[in-house]
Amino acid sequence: MTSLFPLLGKCPAKGYWHLQARAQEAIFFDVLFPFMHHPQSLDKYKLIKIFLYDEPSSKNLDLKELKDYLKGKLQKIDISIRKDFISYFLRDKELERFAKELARARVKDLTNPNYEVEPFYGEIQYEKNLLENKKAKASVLYDGYKLSKLFRDLITEEEKALKYCHIVFTNRLFGTFDEIDKRYHARVITCGVPSIISTTGIVEAPAKPKEFYLLKQKYAAIGMNVPIEIIKQKFAGKFIDYDDERLTEVMKGYALQAIFYNLIFEPFCKQKSCRLFNAHWQNEVIEAQLKSGKLCNKHKKILSSFK
Ligand SMILES: [Zn+2]
Repeated sequence: MTSLFPLLGKCPAKGYWHLQARAQEAIFFDVLFPFMHHPQSLDKYKLIKIFLYDEPSSKNLDLKELKDYLKGKLQKIDISIRKDFISYFLRDKELERFAKELARARVKDLTNPNYEVEPFYGEIQYEKNLLENKKAKASVLYDGYKLSKLFRDLITEEEKALKYCHIVFTNRLFGTFDEIDKRYHARVITCGVPSIISTTGIVEAPAKPKEFYLLKQKYAAIGMNVPIEIIKQKFAGKFIDYDDERLTEVMKGYALQAIFYNLIFEPFCKQKSCRLFNAHWQNEVIEAQLKSGKLCNKHKKILSSFK
């Protein structure tokens, strides 16, 4: 099933795929290109191992349950849990430099992905503090592909190969620039080496019900300063919230998206009831991951061919 073609083919103009193109380009040069002179080494892409990286600030992310779920689907593939990605790979002496790189990966202008300025001292200290306190929550937006590249640079050369699937859970919120409406949008996942899944993104990226925003506007229009928690209560259960008890269940589907990226370079599905559906609304997340909680027949078949 594994093919190099999707990397080389044209990207559809609409939807998420043109965003994926940038990530794929990076993977191509970092990961695939070195092997292309030796076609017999294509078996290097056969998935043999999945690494799940912990996100220590999240109360309800149970990686053991996630691992058992994935193992049930991919019996022959070795799956292991590692501590959080940065602690696992980053050496103490690299902390200062990495903090600066993280500060550089921040989105500075929501309408311009090429706007770059040297990070301020305070921004670097902020990142350093986050690196030292694993349970602290970041409250800034990063460029998803810059973040992915920074993470990739930490992985050892051996483990960069696509036969290893790295799934990094992080509380950092990231976005990707949409060439159609010319602005950044927050995302739950960016697929690549590694694939990064945001526990903040699952709350902030897929849009909440329209009525939620209307109610917020209504209160603002009449000058009422109603705490967001009160508004949230009115819509309880209709979106994934911070420390949501359903988080592990939801993340099973996102982990599968990351795995499908490694298997066939296509993480998403068009069917709304498939766990690979690329949800843009919270009700779509709930439909795909909780109400259905299954893969469509096509993707079930693909997965079983890798068992
Ligand atoms: Zn599907």
